[in-house]
Amino acid sequence: MSKKNQSKAEAYSFFSCIEKNFDKAARYIPIKKGLLEQIKACNAVYRIHFPVKIGKEIQVIEAYRVQHSHHKLPCKGGIRYSIKVNQDEVMTLAALMTYKCAIVDVPFGGAKGGIKIDPQIISVENIEKITRRYTSELIKKNFIGPGIDVPAPDYGTGEREMSWIFDTFLSLSHGEVDALACVTGKPVSQGGVRGRKEATGLGVFYGIRELCQMKEEMLSVGLDVGLHGKKVIIQGLGNVGYHAAKFFHEAGAIIVALAEMEGAIYNKKGLNVSNVILHLKNTGSILNFPESKNIEDTEKALELECDILIPAALENVIHKYNANRIKAKIIGEAANGPVTPEADDILGKNGVIIVPDIYLNAGGVTVSYFEWLKNLSHVRYGRMEKRFSENMNTELLQVIENSCRKKIPIEEKKMILRGPREIDLVRSGLEDTMINGFHKIRDLKKSLKIENLRTAAFVLAINKIIDSYEKLGIFP
Ligand code: GLU
Repeated sequence: MSKKNQSKAEAYSFFSCIEKNFDKAARYIPIKKGLLEQIKACNAVYRIHFPVKIGKEIQVIEAYRVQHSHHKLPCKGGIRYSIKVNQDEVMTLAALMTYKCAIVDVPFGGAKGGIKIDPQIISVENIEKITRRYTSELIKKNFIGPGIDVPAPDYGTGEREMSWIFDTFLSLSHGEVDALACVTGKPVSQGGVRGRKEATGLGVFYGIRELCQMKEEMLSVGLDVGLHGKKVIIQGLGNVGYHAAKFFHEAGAIIVALAEMEGAIYNKKGLNVSNVILHLKNTGSILNFPESKNIEDTEKALELECDILIPAALENVIHKYNANRIKAKIIGEAANGPVTPEADDILGKNGVIIVPDIYLNAGGVTVSYFEWLKNLSHVRYGRMEKRFSENMNTELLQVIENSCRKKIPIEEKKMILRGPREIDLVRSGLEDTMINGFHKIRDLKKSLKIENLRTAAFVLAINKIIDSYEKLGIFP
């Protein structure tokens, strides 16, 4: 089979890749096979074709919403716009959402949506038309709602699409008081939460930073503890990749290469991420960035010398044909499913630490959860406690100053007095979630002597799902 056909075949069996990972984890879980089969299966697949008038033509649009698991409601997961959308892919991504939510203790079942269009070549008016029609199709079949299924952004969608979805839902929901909670990733002006946009990238950063603090793991790959000075390659400069790159750069890591569809750029001394983004905005491409080397074949960027490789674009980019050429010691899966099971085995044998997607990119859905809670409580984070905390801090500082007979400098005082804003609470909630998640997976890996972090993450997720089924009284 040619390389091209092979990668097509791998893409087609994406769902079976997840099944393979699931089965590896199932060996550590002593429950009946039938119950595991229930957890593995997709609970509902909704496939739609609807007509949209584009110019003078009627175009038939193919779209999906898959609810992988109803063990907790609502279901949750993004909607992707891409010409490559297909049922197998949406089912797989929905399944990943189930495990992801379980790992970070976000009380949702997994779901995913997709519309088979190329948003790059369709006008904004037509994307809006398609988005609104898709939403009304979901409403028609009860596939959307604050307690049913809550979409969010994914590849090819963002705040703009989420606000159209909300508006369409609101207009058809006849006074539903919680309508805002029907979708997350909305603009802040429309009920979104501060910190959602950068959440997935920031979560990736927190997860990798935590791993780099672990002496044992760093020793195993021959690296020093800490993120500072580590050489990082990031593939994909979309919302996730861009924010991850920015946070790594700010923490003192050296971004040696950035890869996009049209090619990659490399500078062993490090790239300034904000300047690259500026260059991208001005020229429409990352290529020809000053003082960097162009790499025409973008896939080759994955194989460059580095400590940490962050694939942040699409699935199956590291496969059995390039796995042996990967030089990174750590791979952080910011994208969903970037490493095929065959590549996973090869990299494992080569001693590479893979931080799996079902944990590492869960920052997005974690902050979506915060947004959903905000929408249901109808109050902004920090509104109730900000002033109270400031007053308490003022009194506390007063006591300290009086008893020490010393004045604290005004700038330091300002910093200590400040009560929490929404962004502070969201970020600390995200940081805490990512750090806890990492240690739960790592502890389980150690205690059950599991071969790698991915399998340990699946074991953690499956155990959590079994727990919730047991609470429902479904699995005796
Ligand atoms: N699309 C994102 C993901 O794959 C976010 C999902 C959400 O926030 O519901 O995790």
